[in-house]
Amino acid sequence: MIARVTLEIALRKEFDYLVPEEFQDRVEIGSRVKVPFGPRKVMGVVTGLPAQSEHAKLKPILGVVGKGSFVTPKVLELARWMAGYYCCPVETALKSVLPVSVRKEKEGWKKQLYVRSIEPVGSPSKLTKRQEELNAVLREWKELPLQEFLKMTQSTQATVKKLESAGVALISREVIERDPYAHEHIVPTEPLELNQEQKTSMDAVLKAMNYEEAAKQSNVFLLHGVTGSGKTEVYLQAIQHALEQGKGAIVLVPEISLTPQTVERFKARFSSGKYQTLVAVLHSHLSEGERHDEWHKIKEGRARIVIGARSAVFAPIDPLGLIIVDEEHEHSYKQEEAPRYHARDVAVVRAQREKAVVILGSATPSMETYYNTQKGKYRLLEMPTRADNKTMPWVRVIDMRSEASKEKGIPILSQQLREAIQQRIEKGEQTMLFLNRRGYASSMQCPTCGYVAGCPNCSISMTYHRRDQRLRCHICGHDQRAPKCCPVETCRSYEIRYAGIGTEKVEDTLKLLFPKAGIQRMDSDTLKKKEDYKKILTAFRLGKIDVLIGTQMIAKGLHFPNVTLVGIIYADLSLHMPDFRAGERTFQLLTQVAGRAGRGEVEGDVFVQSFTPFHAAIQYARRHDYLGFYEQEMEFRKDTEYPPTSRMAMITLKGKNEEKLKMSGTHLKSVIEAIREEIKDLALAGPSPAPLERAENFFRYQIMLKTKSMSQLSRRLADIHQSTKLPEGVQTIIDIDPVSMH
Ligand code: ADP
Ligand code: ZN
Ligand code: ZN
Repeated sequence: MIARVTLEIALRKEFDYLVPEEFQDRVEIGSRVKVPFGPRKVMGVVTGLPAQSEHAKLKPILGVVGKGSFVTPKVLELARWMAGYYCCPVETALKSVLPVSVRKEKEGWKKQLYVRSIEPVGSPSKLTKRQEELNAVLREWKELPLQEFLKMTQSTQATVKKLESAGVALISREVIERDPYAHEHIVPTEPLELNQEQKTSMDAVLKAMNYEEAAKQSNVFLLHGVTGSGKTEVYLQAIQHALEQGKGAIVLVPEISLTPQTVERFKARFSSGKYQTLVAVLHSHLSEGERHDEWHKIKEGRARIVIGARSAVFAPIDPLGLIIVDEEHEHSYKQEEAPRYHARDVAVVRAQREKAVVILGSATPSMETYYNTQKGKYRLLEMPTRADNKTMPWVRVIDMRSEASKEKGIPILSQQLREAIQQRIEKGEQTMLFLNRRGYASSMQCPTCGYVAGCPNCSISMTYHRRDQRLRCHICGHDQRAPKCCPVETCRSYEIRYAGIGTEKVEDTLKLLFPKAGIQRMDSDTLKKKEDYKKILTAFRLGKIDVLIGTQMIAKGLHFPNVTLVGIIYADLSLHMPDFRAGERTFQLLTQVAGRAGRGEVEGDVFVQSFTPFHAAIQYARRHDYLGFYEQEMEFRKDTEYPPTSRMAMITLKGKNEEKLKMSGTHLKSVIEAIREEIKDLALAGPSPAPLERAENFFRYQIMLKTKSMSQLSRRLADIHQSTKLPEGVQTIIDIDPVSMH
């Protein structure tokens, strides 16, 4: 028996090994094995079981970790496809497919020892002072891996054994599951009767799930439904159908929207009553132990529904009936480190391979996805009206140019928005204000000599944080005291100016204007601890906060019936990004934010403050006109041949020596030129300095590639990447279908 293995030390090759008799019943595709490699012993994953090898004299495998495979063979094939398409080694792709906590499980699940606090039966024997201490710690934790406990308390196993014989602790090998949502009480829900729009959508999805039409048409649906149109109910009933077919489902949600509220809607439908299936939750805030447990619930088939962020697309659900990608336009589905995959696109590929159905849901679909429905690749389902019969909020655009006055300059809040907030406070209704920039001011300047405080490592100015009197770089995190006067030696002026506004400044302004109101800021600066997020939202829900000001984290998926006013402080911020998707992003953002208003009994108002009030992205968002925006934006994409009219790959070169970098870029480009013979429509631009020219002390140059045949291009790029020698100190990053241009 021969096993083909990829090694953990990311080599772009696979190696064949002999499987000795004793391991043969434990080695399958996806098994983790220990193998000799030169003088070393390394870990690897079995990726194939070939009948024969082209190499003579194979070395034997040294050991197998755990029992059975951690990935399904289908997901392993998917990892292989990812490696090819996104130009990375298979091993790198596997690192995303298998979470760290599952990979590093050396002993296998069952062998791990746990220590648990128990109530003594009868009167416990007397404990020494040290034992009392340990017991107190254990009582607090209730149960945890023995090794962790020993490390935490600096004690030995012998001491813990004494606790056990005293009857207050139990050391066991049994599986004790950690459920991060264990303490929440969830009220079960029944399916709602669908309205006409939902029914039409549901019928199409069910037919595809029953393979009635799937053979002829696509198995990928775009569910384009406005906020509140009842997309979630369609998801729930489609999942129900998958369960009835004996299959499982994966629900992808952007990390930021993966709130307990969201998870609850799924658990409430399926965790009690008829279906009794566990709902596993995967996201980056789980502890390693929790992640490990969730993974095993899925692998053992006890959880047939998985909700999670990006990497949940690899969950070992088998057989798989359905993948839902909610808010499919969200950029967080793209991983910004290798493997640079897009979870939405991987979902589509995975579903194709496993004959599952995909529902991509959004109120503001990405240009790519909508384009795919126009081309007939995906099928379009429309739900243009709200299920709850509420009207869409009224959106007012305020021209900030006319708000400026001679004495005071431009105010942060226009008069109209100020008055609207005042009214809500008086009526006991709530307001959400939105600005996608934290800190107090976006730059510190000296008007006397022209000095601007820039980051020493990056080509951007530092943000001023007034609370702690510091300047911070939002790219590399560089942090220093804000000087009281201009640091230029010949100047030393005290007339420092702070330009550009951030959430901190809006908060201060609000506190001045409405001294009696409850005002709270929510951005990553005010959320230091895991619980802070929940705390603020609970206070908001209980009405203890009148005005909530925050960055994009308050724009997503939150549902507060008492919010009747939403204000966007500075809509132009995202419009001025050096990115061809700036307009699209602004449109999406405004629509999402506006969707937060009027979700309760009272109608909602939305105020958008802008210096370019007639920009198409703002005007179409104001009229809730997605199609209008799409058509106008497509004109621009066609003219410039930007995606979705073509596909894009971006090569970024990074290095400390700018001259060397430029030369490497030019050389690399000349090598790539040769691909033109094969890919006729290949367009090349650069090398030129990236919009973010310098970051973390590295210069950055970019080469941009466009073509219609991306899988062909990415295959050739991987070859070139491997065979082209660039000088030492120059790194290249290949990003296929990039979503961020910086
Ligand atoms: P979306 O996910 O599209 O933003 P939701 O699923 O949150 O919309 O639905 C908005 C509201 O409408 C929810 O309160 C939901 O319970 C309700 N709703 C959805 N479908 C129906 C239906 N068929 N009948 C009655 N209420 C519905
Ligand atoms: Zn100065
Ligand atoms: Zn920096």
